[in-house]
Amino acid sequence: MLFVDILKKLSVLQDLDGQVLIIRSMLDEDLPRARSMVLDKEAALKKALTTTQDAFRQKQVRQKSLESELAAKEDLFAKQKTLQASVKKIDEYNALNHTLEQIDHEITALEDVELKLLIEIDDNKKAIEALEAQTIEGLASLKAEMQLIDKRVSELKKEKQTLETEAIEAQKEVPPDWLNAYNFAKKQAKRPPFVVNIQDDRCQGCHLKISSEKKQMARDLKVPCHCDTCNRILLKFPEQ
Ligand SMILES: [Zn+2]
Repeated sequence: MLFVDILKKLSVLQDLDGQVLIIRSMLDEDLPRARSMVLDKEAALKKALTTTQDAFRQKQVRQKSLESELAAKEDLFAKQKTLQASVKKIDEYNALNHTLEQIDHEITALEDVELKLLIEIDDNKKAIEALEAQTIEGLASLKAEMQLIDKRVSELKKEKQTLETEAIEAQKEVPPDWLNAYNFAKKQAKRPPFVVNIQDDRCQGCHLKISSEKKQMARDLKVPCHCDTCNRILLKFPEQ
């Protein structure tokens, strides 16, 4: 087989392998990263809503307890008032008056706190409703995003399978010594290109200097010749 034909077949194989490698890195890195970002966003949305809902419920609980506290104070006030009506001595009457004033003062303070809390609860209620709607919308859009990722994964898996089958066929076209050399270069270099030209005395894969002996071998094209550093197959075409 003429070298030019070997080179064409190697380049077909290299192109297929390059595409497989890109797809593999998308399947192994990019898409799982995208998926975990969606999951993180989903968890953050849910957490933000739960935290707000919990704080809201705590305020409602506080308001209920304020209500019972107030009812107890009012009850106490009524009892003391009744008691006051029945006392005969002026100093007892005055003492109860003082107690009633004290209770009344406490009731007013509690009512102020409750009013403030009720206003807060009312505002929070509107904010929570908005947040709930926003969360539902956000979760739906994340779900759609996840479906797109899943779709892309299954498309890429199919595409990869097709390319791998094509690569197996392409390998059959390459003479065994060149195929072995190519597979070795691919395994060592990991990233394409696996077949490179020498330019300005440098390997175009790792960009390191090539010895004149290797350069001559690469020019002869009789046997595959590898870069000493990255192990890619070296070619040397005559200078233009
Ligand atoms: Zn190299």
